Amino acid sequence: MPVLVIGTGYGGSVAALRLAQAGTDVHMVEMGMAWDTPGADGKIFANTTRPDDRSFWLRTRTKQPLSNFLGFPLDKNVNRYTGILDAEEFAGITVYQGRGVGGGSLVNGGMAVTPRRENFAAILPSVNAAEMYSTYYPRANAGLGVTTIDPAWFDTVDCYQYSRVGRKHAQRSGFPFLFVPAVYDWDYMKQEAAGTVPRSALDAEILYGNNYGKKSLQKTYIDRIRATGRVTISPLHRVTRVSPASGGGYTVLIDQLDTTGRTSVTKTVTADKVFFAAGSVGTSKLLVGLKATGALPLLNNEVGKGWGENGNVMCGRANHLWDPTGKVQSSIPTGGIDNWDAGGAFAEVAPLPTGIETWASFYLSITKNPHRAEFTWNAAAGRAELNWQTAWKQPSIDAARTIFDKINKKEGTIYRTDLFGVHKIWGDHLTYHPLGGAVLDKATDNYGRLHGYPGLYVIDGALIPGNCSVNPFVTITALAERNIERIIATDL
Ligand code: FAD
Repeated sequence: MPVLVIGTGYGGSVAALRLAQAGTDVHMVEMGMAWDTPGADGKIFANTTRPDDRSFWLRTRTKQPLSNFLGFPLDKNVNRYTGILDAEEFAGITVYQGRGVGGGSLVNGGMAVTPRRENFAAILPSVNAAEMYSTYYPRANAGLGVTTIDPAWFDTVDCYQYSRVGRKHAQRSGFPFLFVPAVYDWDYMKQEAAGTVPRSALDAEILYGNNYGKKSLQKTYIDRIRATGRVTISPLHRVTRVSPASGGGYTVLIDQLDTTGRTSVTKTVTADKVFFAAGSVGTSKLLVGLKATGALPLLNNEVGKGWGENGNVMCGRANHLWDPTGKVQSSIPTGGIDNWDAGGAFAEVAPLPTGIETWASFYLSITKNPHRAEFTWNAAAGRAELNWQTAWKQPSIDAARTIFDKINKKEGTIYRTDLFGVHKIWGDHLTYHPLGGAVLDKATDNYGRLHGYPGLYVIDGALIPGNCSVNPFVTITALAERNIERIIATDL
């Protein structure tokens, strides 16, 4: 076969679509499920407030980002199943990732943010920023269906009361508040608010999939991929090994999984070209393992390096009784507080969709955390490990405090201590934004070609060196659009 793509997230979907449109047949291999069939409740995806077997990747107990609420633990037992959200635990951090056809687009908050140009230029200095902002960011935003909320509707609708309180508090403390674009169908959300259609954003759907209004990759790039007729997608198939084939090209070993995660069959295929699009963690784990075990020994020493968590840290604030944040909160965040230049933090006003009034403001901050971790191969255990240290989150907490200490002082309010464990203020144990591990122009050339192996490419979040200054999927998509255009022009 001409091209095999490992993974069906943003990078993999861009690669497959553009290759197919250029006339190349493509096989996409995805370890997660297809997510196209309703469960017993008639819905494809489980609700955030009622996690079930569908919610987690091969766990027997849920591991929700918020572990406690008002003193009650939130996690519960489930059956081991190839569910949609992987809470992958490394020694110092839990990395949340989407599993299934569509990758992270199935589970994410849909916030579709283009970084400020000067920040992009500092993060990826080898990339021509002028081209990115004139061609590839617009192409990515159009391909993903990115739009911004109607400000007049935002100002009046109940489900964004929480966001308006966030805006008021930010502005009273002198911070700029900006609308964050998203990949949600706003007309659909208006109909949800009017009660004329089944609800998804207004029924707290996030983390475990969205049944209606979110434009995941299934509705955008993957829909167009299917229309080309040139792409085969194999769900519940996991790539375990890639090595040079004797007659040229690469031999790829693939495990077919059942829904308990067991391997039912192992398959071998050959491909002229292989794109690693398994996500920052998936691609990094594969590459360090393949280098160390002798399958791809010529990969350079940058493989596995430059990994970061995009400075993710969460916190909640307890508001006064005159600042209710609303019983029904849209699960799609739509506002952010920009203190990047002065304090190294960009904070999004996030929903706390509990269905009851909480008087809480909740935030996900993206911060300028300088620490970078590395994946290495543990030969004895036969697995890749990540050396991120728990204490490395302190710069993220300090950066987030430049916003929220000031707001608390101005408003006379305090942090919530009931969300992440007993008397714990900061959600600093996790990331939703793994980035790096096969950094552009280091582990690869300036277009994602892996050094040492013609025909092997990286085209996902692993290319971005650990931080993006905003939520990453628009940048992952735009960089993939840039790289695949060059690869199609010169390598096919
Ligand atoms: P992914 O989208 O992770 O896709 C990789 C795919 O490869 C996965 O489907 C995986 O199952 C598959 N795979 C991995 N290993 C193998 C293997 N060996 N064989 C076969 N398949 C494999 N970003 C934003 O910009 N805005 C947001 O609002 C936002 N919210 C988020 C909320 C949550 C809960 C999470 C988890 C993430 C969020 N993100 C958000 C991050 C965003 O979703 C990711 O940055 C993005 O999905 C990464 O794209 P990718 O192409 O690198 O890989």
